[in-house]
Amino acid sequence: MPLHLVQGDIGQERTCAVVTAANSQLAGGGGVDGVIHRAAGPQLLRALRPLGGTPTGTAVATPAFGMAAQGVRVILHAVGPIWRGGQGEAELLAGAYRQSLRLAAEHGCDSVAFPAISTGVYGYPLEEAAAVALRTIRAFLAEQPELTVRVVLHGAGPLGVFRQVLDRLEAEEAS
Ligand code: ADP
Repeated sequence: MPLHLVQGDIGQERTCAVVTAANSQLAGGGGVDGVIHRAAGPQLLRALRPLGGTPTGTAVATPAFGMAAQGVRVILHAVGPIWRGGQGEAELLAGAYRQSLRLAAEHGCDSVAFPAISTGVYGYPLEEAAAVALRTIRAFLAEQPELTVRVVLHGAGPLGVFRQVLDRLEAEEAS
């Protein structure tokens, strides 16, 4: 399955589509969103402003602006949930991944890079977030295997957690 877990900086990715962890106002922010906005330049915020936001659990697409120089065509602004202790956040997180995957395919992309949405400032526990992310991506790829998905983790710790969860999901499937 064309799913790759890598350690790195999402701002350096060269995939056709790159996903950022946006807020529902689409107002730009810190963390991954700050990295993507800096890489894309001020045109990105100008393109987002007329949209007026998007609900938690959804995603919207914009051009890549400054990131086009590294081969990116589309930026997908996915809004994950803020962790509240497990009150429906999983479905919202899955929705953010699913809609991003759909948008990447609709834009004719053969590759998309994701950060670990909601696992920074939004406080989603990493292992639980990894299970939701990887289940959703694997279900999508089972239907559309022509898309390559990279999950870009910030550090060896998060990469290890995602690897373990992926191994567990693969073992579950094989048994
Ligand atoms: P959220 O608000 O959705 O929690 P954040 O941007 O705060 O989003 O963090 C999401 C995840 O991205 C965190 O696990 C964080 O460690 C990671 N992260 C931070 N910077 C980068 C980067 N440059 N590339 C990839 N991942 C990053």
